[in-house]
Amino acid sequence: MTIAYNRRTHRCGQLRLSNVGESVILAGWVQKYRDHGGMVFIDLRDYTGVTQIRFNPETDPKAHTIARSLRTEDVIAVAGEVAPRGENVNPKLPTGEIEVLGHQCDLLSKADTTPFEVADHIEANEDLRLKYRYVDLRRPVMQKVFRTRHRIGKAIRDYFDENGFVEIETPFLTKSTPEGARDYLVPSRVKRGTFYALPQSPQIFKQLFMIAGFDRYAQIVRCFRDEDLRADRQPEFTQLDMEMSFVQMEDVMTVVEGCVQRIFKAALDIDVPVPFPRISEGEAMERFGIDRPDTRFGLELQDVTDIARRCDFRVFSEALAAGGVVKCIVARGGELTRKITDGLTEEIKGIGGAGLPVTKVIQGAGGPEFSTGIAKFIQPVFAELCAKVGTQVGDTIFFMPGRFAHVCKYLHYVRTRLAQIMELIPPNRWNLLWVVDFPLFVWDEEANRWFSTHHPFTAPKDEDLQYLESDPGRVRSKAYDLVLNGTEMAGGSIRIHRRDVQARVFRVLGISDEEAHLRFEFLMDALRFGAPPHGGIAFGFDRWTMLLTGQESLRDVVAFPKTQRAVCPLTGAPAPVGQDQLDELQLLIKANADG
Ligand code: ASP
Repeated sequence: MTIAYNRRTHRCGQLRLSNVGESVILAGWVQKYRDHGGMVFIDLRDYTGVTQIRFNPETDPKAHTIARSLRTEDVIAVAGEVAPRGENVNPKLPTGEIEVLGHQCDLLSKADTTPFEVADHIEANEDLRLKYRYVDLRRPVMQKVFRTRHRIGKAIRDYFDENGFVEIETPFLTKSTPEGARDYLVPSRVKRGTFYALPQSPQIFKQLFMIAGFDRYAQIVRCFRDEDLRADRQPEFTQLDMEMSFVQMEDVMTVVEGCVQRIFKAALDIDVPVPFPRISEGEAMERFGIDRPDTRFGLELQDVTDIARRCDFRVFSEALAAGGVVKCIVARGGELTRKITDGLTEEIKGIGGAGLPVTKVIQGAGGPEFSTGIAKFIQPVFAELCAKVGTQVGDTIFFMPGRFAHVCKYLHYVRTRLAQIMELIPPNRWNLLWVVDFPLFVWDEEANRWFSTHHPFTAPKDEDLQYLESDPGRVRSKAYDLVLNGTEMAGGSIRIHRRDVQARVFRVLGISDEEAHLRFEFLMDALRFGAPPHGGIAFGFDRWTMLLTGQESLRDVVAFPKTQRAVCPLTGAPAPVGQDQLDELQLLIKANADG
């Protein structure tokens, strides 16, 4: 008789001393195999853990013969009896006080040698891991990640359900949705020469839900953006997308804070305090050089433009003459060697900067003074500068002259690197922060036009509406971004619910009335038929999972991710298709399309 593996009595991580004497059925994968001169020991693994099975040739010769033939990753079922391990207790295993005396063993599936070991720490390169993802996912660390991912998703769904939200699906085969990336296109077979676009987000649909009177909507949904894949992007990714009617910014932010509390509880059993601090985008740029500041450490940017004006230092005066600023970061008492500061200067050059003037406050013969090459230029303002930025002997000052945007970019970089080098980031700190008061538009020098900072449906602040045409750069939006330890975790806004305002915003964006009609007619139409004030937000669900499970790459929290070249090593997608399929779609592939 074969073992009724469909009647497993336990999972492999469950048995304890209290189960001693019980007859059990377990099934799973062979983690380890040891033949101890007669006795065969198998570590049997499933998603809950590992149990040691002992096969005795004297008492169970048949089972023992099968056990002797087993190798790692074979799939087996075992029937046996739980026994104490006596003095061979393994304190590292939750099941380490017991073992199962295997009376029967069925080989359910023989495994070839796997391309890499099923263990938490492996050396295998990522392409190999992704090609054999099902083996990779067997690793306990991955099992844990995906179970946490599930729990986060469940916590989110429960929370929104309790708060009156409905989950409704939105289409994947749709029309372009403007989130600023390239669309993935799907050719239509039926309507020759036309294409669906996969949604970059359900933005317009969720707004239509509000116009449809659903009041509150939340969906965990896949979005598609064809971007050049930076280390932390995936072409398809999952968002928690939500929208609410008859709300102001405060209302959405409060609901989100409650949701974030639930997420932390589910993933880490941590209570995060609410409300989260808020900072304006302007202040964030001034103090941190970035609109998603990491507030776990200091090293804030300080403006020394006024003092720099009084220095006879060409690097400063050129920047100031061009309308720039001079800002600095003070690294307090860090033992920053010349090698480190030179290294940082090189890194800044590597990302396009001209350099990084550095000085150190040292104890000179006549009292504290600046050291390094630039000291002579700034020594005359020593007292003022030290008083303004609050330096002491031992501190290092990093200056950055130039256009505000550049100064922000480079000093943000310096700040982040210094925090790593000086080990200033405390472990297990979760700094949540709202960034608000974004400008509605950003000017793009190259394209010579305004772009939406978020997306074109974001509402301007009521008091700034008057500047929409006359001074678009002055208009602030009703947008809010949620930042966690320097990473943008969610972004949303109150939306435009008036057709005339939406048309004005499109015009500022250079979208003519005709183009708006072509691209967004359905939305503009909907705004005619009674649109309630509404707003919402979207969370990067993968990114939340990544941070809360301590993973370093989004690829580690997506079951079947794409590589940085947007390829799936497992399935081989994207792949060529047959001529018959192309013919059916009436598509011609250009020869040498790649040049
Ligand atoms: N649709 C936006 C996004 O995907 C989020 C939002 O405004 O709700 O980023």
